[in-house]
Amino acid sequence: MYNHTNSKKLQIDAEEVILGGVNSPSRSYKAVDGGAPLVMERAEGPYFYDVDGNKYIDYLAAYGPIITGHAHPRIHEAITEQSSKGILYGTSTKLEIDFARKLQKAIPSLERVRFVNSGTEAVMTTIRVARAYTGRNKVIKFEGCYHGHSDLVLVAAGSGPSQLGTPDSAGVPESVAQDVITVPFNNLEDFKAAVSHFGDEIAAVLVEPIVGNFGIVEPEEGFLQAVNDIAHDNGSLVIYDEVITAFRFGYGSATDIVGVTPDLTAMGKIIGGGTPIGAYGGRLDIMESVAPLGAAYQAGTMAGNPLSMAAGIACLEVLEQPGVYEELDRLGAKLEDGLNALIEKYNVTAKINRLVGALTIYFTDETVTNYTQAEASDGEVFASFFRGLISRGINIAPSKYEAWFLTTEHTDKDIDDTLAIVEDVFKNDL
Ligand code: PLP
Repeated sequence: MYNHTNSKKLQIDAEEVILGGVNSPSRSYKAVDGGAPLVMERAEGPYFYDVDGNKYIDYLAAYGPIITGHAHPRIHEAITEQSSKGILYGTSTKLEIDFARKLQKAIPSLERVRFVNSGTEAVMTTIRVARAYTGRNKVIKFEGCYHGHSDLVLVAAGSGPSQLGTPDSAGVPESVAQDVITVPFNNLEDFKAAVSHFGDEIAAVLVEPIVGNFGIVEPEEGFLQAVNDIAHDNGSLVIYDEVITAFRFGYGSATDIVGVTPDLTAMGKIIGGGTPIGAYGGRLDIMESVAPLGAAYQAGTMAGNPLSMAAGIACLEVLEQPGVYEELDRLGAKLEDGLNALIEKYNVTAKINRLVGALTIYFTDETVTNYTQAEASDGEVFASFFRGLISRGINIAPSKYEAWFLTTEHTDKDIDDTLAIVEDVFKNDL
């Protein structure tokens, strides 16, 4: 069993200077009763090394961006080369044009693009643009989907499709929440009811086309096409939040899988190769609402910064090599099959959702297709599972709602080692 003495000491230090000891609440181990979060010292390929000298196989992948593994040589080289030429200019660069073209080539619906610094900013801005374009205020979102920490999207479900949202965070005014309608994912009837109730007040429907925030959940056949058609008939725009999904399951966006094209798309995570980034884009006539061409304002000192552009281009160059996603899928299937065999062998109540190199284990007997089902999965069992993994050398997110992410650097041996550790946890800890 791993010793975490130094992590514990550093967490005490951290709490004296950093609020709660973490710079993002999702990094806290509170929800899993896990004590002090691990403090990492370095990471390479699919591995993490903590301040106690322990090695972990990493499936957190920094909550998704690190699809090419840690310290990938090509990304490292791109960043060091760019940093020697200056890291921030506050002017235009050829790099940002090259990167925008590369994104547009992979995702043709991005007729125009803007770079920002996080997924939060990207989503927040698409909503502003949709409101500016339509002259309407309300937004429909789906229950359990996280879209960053801007006011408007930190709103939980009302008690039914015709109810307005209530704030999910202190500090979000009721008046803001009144503009958000939350309906269950994969529930067309509730979606239709919300659209018919609020009609021409709805500026946009915000969707994770493949959900990544209550685990990996795919849309049911026809759901997204119907959402598009109903929204458009209502004069509302459709925004895809592809912060998790862009370049996750294939070289391009989730639209290649779901076969439906939105009006606007927000991205982040993978496209920065591990550096801070966000991007949004879409139909030219809509994007023309943004300053300096239009009246919707969006700006950023760091937006399109050369380091993120260089790292993003390098990351996409790795991902566009032949066979990358096939290999992620092969290893993903091996991990899923191995986990399912252990679930059966040890009679664990669990279901797995997987797409290519992303998967979630839910401790429940029901297949998860919406947030209510994910919420009903057993958090206590997950917490024991999590604690068992981090004390034996596997790093995953401390939340039953997060996915495991494979990287291009994981190997067959990593999967075999992972399954051996999971077996030990199932046998001794659950
Ligand atoms: N949208 C989705 C789907 C996300 O998963 C996240 C973050 O996890 C965000 C938006 C916010 O991105 P960021 O954390 O870069 O602000």
